[in-house]
Amino acid sequence: MEPTARRVAIVTGAAQGIGLGIARRLAKDGLDLALFDLPQCESMLEDAASAIRSEHGARVVCVVGDVSVEEDVERLVDAASKNFGGLDVMIANAGIHITGTLHELSVDQFDKVMAVNVRGVFLCYKHAAKRLIEQGRGGRIIGATSIVGKRGTVLPHSVRTQAAYCASKFAVRGLTQCAALEYGEYGITVNAYAPGGIQTPLMATAGEEYTARTGQPWETFVAQFKGAVGRFGEPEDVAKVVSFLVSDDASFITGQSFNVDGGLQFD
Ligand code: NAD
Repeated sequence: MEPTARRVAIVTGAAQGIGLGIARRLAKDGLDLALFDLPQCESMLEDAASAIRSEHGARVVCVVGDVSVEEDVERLVDAASKNFGGLDVMIANAGIHITGTLHELSVDQFDKVMAVNVRGVFLCYKHAAKRLIEQGRGGRIIGATSIVGKRGTVLPHSVRTQAAYCASKFAVRGLTQCAALEYGEYGITVNAYAPGGIQTPLMATAGEEYTARTGQPWETFVAQFKGAVGRFGEPEDVAKVVSFLVSDDASFITGQSFNVDGGLQFD
């Protein structure tokens, strides 16, 4: 019997945080990986790739660029196909968080968060979908939204100043629902994860901004992200949900955005 071909996944924003957690989990699940991050994160990305190769025996290629630049995303999809013979899974994880009360935000700040969080996800969905349709063997597309992509500011004492970020994460849900409708006939499912508070460099920076704004310590910041489960999240909590969404068992699920927040917010 022919051995089953290994599936191939792209993970953007894979040098650290949730993206790195997802990459490690997918490698453990037996997928080969094309990891993507900004050029300034190249050495972190290479270190992550080396660790994943030795931990899980996965084949891993690193590509650097910017998710908001179309040529970079096309190059990424090509690299996955050239190195591993195809693409099966796109994880459009890369995103940035910008704080600032709405009337304080500059147009440049607003445009920047939209460029990375919305245009970047759009480009990843677009070029993954084109490749998956050409291949004709279905696939999985998954994006990063947030619980603040479902409801304007949920944590009034900490990071209430995130209108642009919040709007960008609402947009990811819109892209995800439309893409799910458009690509279901090709055997492609499209879903998103909606984290609450996950311990990553992004949250560390948000915590520092909170402390600077309020004078309150990190512990007070973190306490506001403890939902029903009573703890802060880890990248692995998100990675487990992604692992399921990528699996055959999730073939009947599409267009959804899954809260991974320990019961911080209910839909
Ligand atoms: P992080 O800042 O720790 O890591 C994000 C990675 O994305 C970094 O390595 C960064 O270099 C990369 N990146 C940023 N801009 C990029 C670009 N233009 N092109 C390519 N790579 C780029 O963030 P994280 O906390 O791991 O978050 C991952 C995703 O999850 C983001 O989309 C974020 O908005 C979302 N999210 C995170 C949380 C949380 O609590 N950490 C909650 C809700 C949603």
